[in-house]
Amino acid sequence: VLNLDGFGRFISAYARRLADLQSVLNELDNRIGDGDHGTNMARGFRVASEKLSQTTVTDLGNACSAVAMALLGSVGGVSGPLYSTVFMKFAAAWKGATTVDFESLREAIKSALEGLEARGKAKRGEKTLIDVWLPVVECLYEEETAPEEALKQCVKVAQQAAIDTKPLRATKGRAAYLGDRSKGTCDPGSVSSAVFFEELVDVVVGGVERIEWQTSAL
Ligand code: ADP
Ligand code: MG
Repeated sequence: VLNLDGFGRFISAYARRLADLQSVLNELDNRIGDGDHGTNMARGFRVASEKLSQTTVTDLGNACSAVAMALLGSVGGVSGPLYSTVFMKFAAAWKGATTVDFESLREAIKSALEGLEARGKAKRGEKTLIDVWLPVVECLYEEETAPEEALKQCVKVAQQAAIDTKPLRATKGRAAYLGDRSKGTCDPGSVSSAVFFEELVDVVVGGVERIEWQTSAL
């Protein structure tokens, strides 16, 4: 389902999307935070993508570690350690593997969610990226659905979940300082996470319908 080559394509595709969406993510963060989420993510994944192409990686474990380290070293905001945790969990799940199947992919995503929960202490409905990762994992573990279908489905779930953060009041992170005034804007980290799943799933199963994320609708 996912090999080293695919993983590399995912990281560079995600880096490109983040570069394109930099101002959108900054604008969202500007409304309810300090306006740097786009800058943080675009820089972090540009550095990660460069590092990955320059490093000799032999398996998905050390490829993910390289990305995790690059993010930790290049992102100032809280999203640095958060997304770094995701790739640290992937690295642990895929140690020594050059290719992973659907089962291993969804286990890694689940373990990344657990890492995010442990690090950020956010629960569902607190207007953080947990609001995207949680329903994605639920979708991937839906019993009735075939693996490939579940993966495709989880992109739509992630997109909708990011949009659904709009009316929420933030109780974690910088946006929590705004209290009720954090309502009415989508959570920037949830949008960057939805884009994460758009690009990851497109590499794995293809044919993903991406959203043109525009601030006017968010
Ligand atoms: P900073 O808040 O340090 O400026 P960013 O702007 O890069 O960092 O990232 C903000 C995003 O981080 C938010 O939109 C939210 O999704 C996510 N976030 C903040 N705090 C938490 C938390 N405790 N748990 C999970 N995600 C969080
Ligand atoms: Mg910020």
